Amino acid sequence: MLKTTLAGSLPKPRWLAEEEKLWAGWKLAGDDLAEGKRDATILAVKLQEVAGLDIVGDGEQARQHFVHGFLANLEGIDWEKKTRMGIRNNRYEADVPTVTGPIRRKGSVHRMEAEAARAHTTRQLKFTLPGPMTIVDTIADAHYGRREDLAFAFAEALNAEALELQALGVDVVQFDEPAWNVYMPQVAEWGMAALERAAKGLTCTTAVHICYGYGIKANIDWKATLGGSWRHYEETFPVIARSSIRQVSLECRNSRVPMDLIKLLDGKDVLVGCIDVASNDIETPEEVAATIREAMKFVAPEKLFPCTNCGMAPMTRNVAYGKLASLAKGAKIVCDELKSRG
Ligand code: ZN
Repeated sequence: MLKTTLAGSLPKPRWLAEEEKLWAGWKLAGDDLAEGKRDATILAVKLQEVAGLDIVGDGEQARQHFVHGFLANLEGIDWEKKTRMGIRNNRYEADVPTVTGPIRRKGSVHRMEAEAARAHTTRQLKFTLPGPMTIVDTIADAHYGRREDLAFAFAEALNAEALELQALGVDVVQFDEPAWNVYMPQVAEWGMAALERAAKGLTCTTAVHICYGYGIKANIDWKATLGGSWRHYEETFPVIARSSIRQVSLECRNSRVPMDLIKLLDGKDVLVGCIDVASNDIETPEEVAATIREAMKFVAPEKLFPCTNCGMAPMTRNVAYGKLASLAKGAKIVCDELKSRG
């Protein structure tokens, strides 16, 4: 019980990529870059083990961004045709590539790092992919016309990748859907169906991560407009509760999400965010334990997985791994309490 894990990304070593940036440029090229990505993946797995995590990930060391990393090996996308677009309902503007033809997966996207991670840990291995709605919200469309049609096209490509990751020995496939905290009605209309298409046929553990975004300024400013009680999950959790997805990763630490919304996830594993990724202050183990105890009012310890609020890519490595160590220590405090109570 109380198995610890992380939402997804981790900072990259400074010899591989620019530090403390979300779209960090690579510092290597060609074969050096390929080898650097692999070495960084192995290092990230080992550092998570040292920190004490039970379920480790590749730390997204081989991708520049959590959405566009997956799109790199798909047909139907024109990377030269950039379209200026407001994403997450105009929270940020970005020059994004454009879909100009049918989406098709050319081949493996993440095979290298999944194999490297699997070969270097005996712990449970988790792998993250962007969810269909979040991809659709991060790319321009000049071919499909309807957002749900584009989402299902991406879902098929995601499914092929997810099945391959499972065959490589990945234990948990998680789809990241920050867009679900922006377009709540569409989750019930087509977002959940697209996600289940992406997860079709998976027998490993499936998860969805829904958050309020990385700790970057645009997100911090947005959160400041959301008021004292963030109830976005209230609309989407009942939809997830009825779905085949087994785990839900959500943001709790330093957020204004009412903890009792977890009750709406009855029957699911809940990955409780005990680590704030928008602050460089490292939580103490006791602070982590307090978040876990609060969540345990609404979910049984067997179904509770202490986790980070979101990815940690834009942080420094010292802060990120310090936070992971506190996460593991905090979970142990509560585990010991539960055991002593018998
Ligand atoms: Zn997130």
